[in-house]
Amino acid sequence: MNPTDAIRPAHVEVSLGAIAQNYDAIRAHVGTASVMPVVKANAYGHGIVEVARHLMNHGAPCLGVALLEEAVVLRQAGITLPILVFGGVATRQIPQFIAHDLMMAASSIDKLRQIDEAAAAVKTKARVHLKIDTGMERIGVHWYNAEKLLEASLSFINVEVAGIYSHFANSDAADLTSAREQLARFLEVLEFYPKRGLQSPQRHIANSGGILQLPESHLDLVRPGIMLYGVYPSKEVPHTVTLQPALSWKSQVVYFKVVQPGSPVSYGATWQSDHPVRVVTVPVGYGDGYFRALSNRGQVVIRGQRHPIAGRVCMDQFMVNLEWGTAYNGDAVTLIGDGISAQDVADWAGTIPYEVLTNINSRVPRVYV
Ligand SMILES: *Cc1c(COP(=O)(O)O)cnc(C)c1O
Repeated sequence: MNPTDAIRPAHVEVSLGAIAQNYDAIRAHVGTASVMPVVKANAYGHGIVEVARHLMNHGAPCLGVALLEEAVVLRQAGITLPILVFGGVATRQIPQFIAHDLMMAASSIDKLRQIDEAAAAVKTKARVHLKIDTGMERIGVHWYNAEKLLEASLSFINVEVAGIYSHFANSDAADLTSAREQLARFLEVLEFYPKRGLQSPQRHIANSGGILQLPESHLDLVRPGIMLYGVYPSKEVPHTVTLQPALSWKSQVVYFKVVQPGSPVSYGATWQSDHPVRVVTVPVGYGDGYFRALSNRGQVVIRGQRHPIAGRVCMDQFMVNLEWGTAYNGDAVTLIGDGISAQDVADWAGTIPYEVLTNINSRVPRVYV
């Protein structure tokens, strides 16, 4: 039986092979730097456990996620790699981080002290990456206050500083002035270690934009997210690494009809034709994460042809205007793939490809190929 026979006529197909190929392409591009695949937000919609397991078996040395909960899901699925959790650490979560052997982001002396005490209580060593804010103004100690944190971090005997990192706010832009400024600030902070004759912990700042556009930012480790999934972070970045999109979103025609002029289609009557047209219904909606903003703007591919969405996207269905094109019930409908990129969908919906991918929710079955 075909794996899609047993599921609703809408699914996402994920090529784990494409993800592994993208990982290899990134590795080749960054030379000696190590690669930390970022699998937060359900691996950008691709399925966190399947993607993490595939990358582990493919030789990835570590993983990055945003939340404690995401890392715990990976541990429960048997993922034994080092995992860095990027987000902030609430004091009450520290024992769980330690129990699951997860690396924490630390950006204050106070937090380091709490981590040190929690580790001492269970007679272990906690691993942290110091988080330096070089201009994102999100989390992290400001670069101009970092020295005290680095100094203090040397004195907590139950804490191992495994890494030190920062994050770019504008590495996917055409103008790299601010990204270069962030990198310069970070490099200045890092001088702390050689100045004292100390070995630096693993130094990292590059996300996809940095990997593609700023080779000097690769340092010891890079943290690709979106590009691992075969999507460029913006339309501005040069394609210095060749990537393969890993995800396609497929559905089927479930209804066919001819709509007469004067009969508007879907909620709000926002679309109608001045001549009879063929219209088909596709069983996907904003309840699956297919943006309502695609109403009267998005396109799909049926039988190799692009066709526009007619009227509003509903929660569970939307309609497509074939004009006089041909389609039968059961025909494949491609929402992403067959020449429609996540960037195209993002442009139509007024957002970025990151949101298009992470928005595809658990109602849509994932099929791995
Ligand atoms: C999400 C994230 C990344 C990956 O970013 P991309 O632009 O998808 O490559 C890297 N580092 C941190 C800290 C992140 O939060």
